[in-house]
Amino acid sequence: MIVEMRTGASREEIDSIVQKVKSFGWDVQMNVGTEKTVVAILGSNTGQVSTDIFAVLPGVESVTRIMKPYKLSSREVKAQDSLVSINGIEIGGKRIIVMAGPCAVESEEQLAEVAKVVKAAGASIMRGGAFKPRTSPFGFQGLKKAGLELLAKVKEQFDIPVITEVLDSRDVNMVSEAADILQVGSRNMQNFTLLTAIGKSKRPVVLKRGFSCTVTEWLTAADYLLTEGNNQVILCERGIRTFEDSVRFSLDISSIPVIKKSSHLPVIVDPSHAAGHYSLVPAIAKAAIAAGADGLLIEVHPKPEEALVDGLQSLTPANFAKLMEELRLIAKSVGRYI
Ligand code: PEP
Ligand code: MN
Repeated sequence: MIVEMRTGASREEIDSIVQKVKSFGWDVQMNVGTEKTVVAILGSNTGQVSTDIFAVLPGVESVTRIMKPYKLSSREVKAQDSLVSINGIEIGGKRIIVMAGPCAVESEEQLAEVAKVVKAAGASIMRGGAFKPRTSPFGFQGLKKAGLELLAKVKEQFDIPVITEVLDSRDVNMVSEAADILQVGSRNMQNFTLLTAIGKSKRPVVLKRGFSCTVTEWLTAADYLLTEGNNQVILCERGIRTFEDSVRFSLDISSIPVIKKSSHLPVIVDPSHAAGHYSLVPAIAKAAIAAGADGLLIEVHPKPEEALVDGLQSLTPANFAKLMEELRLIAKSVGRYI
């Protein structure tokens, strides 16, 4: 931690900082300039105290942390890329993993049709929401437990792992019975009770980025999962809120290389919720793979015009199959495959 004193701070004010630092058993390194003094605080556990305890003292201009707030998800803690393995499918390696399916589970027929077409096109994991986090309480909330049962049934029938969202920490065990991967939605990225419960469950988890959260907050949220011993964590960029209104959310493409630099965790991209429109999904999906994403989470519906949720951003089976062909070329050009 670095404490920058105000210009002209008094000797007493500087001394009181030093005394407070020593009271924690830490050391100081003083940098006394002609006008300004900067105090570097040296200690192994300075992260446990708030910077405010120094910032409120008289004569202090600002207090800055040097260490990143996230730890277990950082490359500093683990230099090699982490691989997450789901039924033998590895995420974070050379192979690009595509997860595809409807926004919401609607019926057995819908799910079976989707499983058949996405698997044939090369997706290795099926998505489908049984619990839907809707902005309005009057929107379709998902089939809930009945939806989980359909997922479990279709997954067996088509031999394809599934990912589905868990909204409530009390449902983690129930959702885990049907799902191979738990999804934490954007709106729940900082639901720390839910993260702790999923951390304890040790289930593979996709942690979507909160649409108003920074990469630092996202990685710090991932630490909640990792600190409970769950290292099967996959990050998912799904777009953030900006002033731009021509898309549903602005896909932060730069978060992919930023994550790759700062973290060992695999990162996938959801182009569907960012785009908000099916016509924009392919370009965003291809850009994500070119930028280094380890996989994609794409909404596909056999009949988007009949979808109960997010029909406009859902690809038809034909559009999905076409995109998969294009993605193979992009993957190859960056030394990967699907
Ligand atoms: C979803 O993937 O179904 C979803 C609700 O996405 P997000 O949490 O990113 O809005
Ligand atoms: Mn959706």
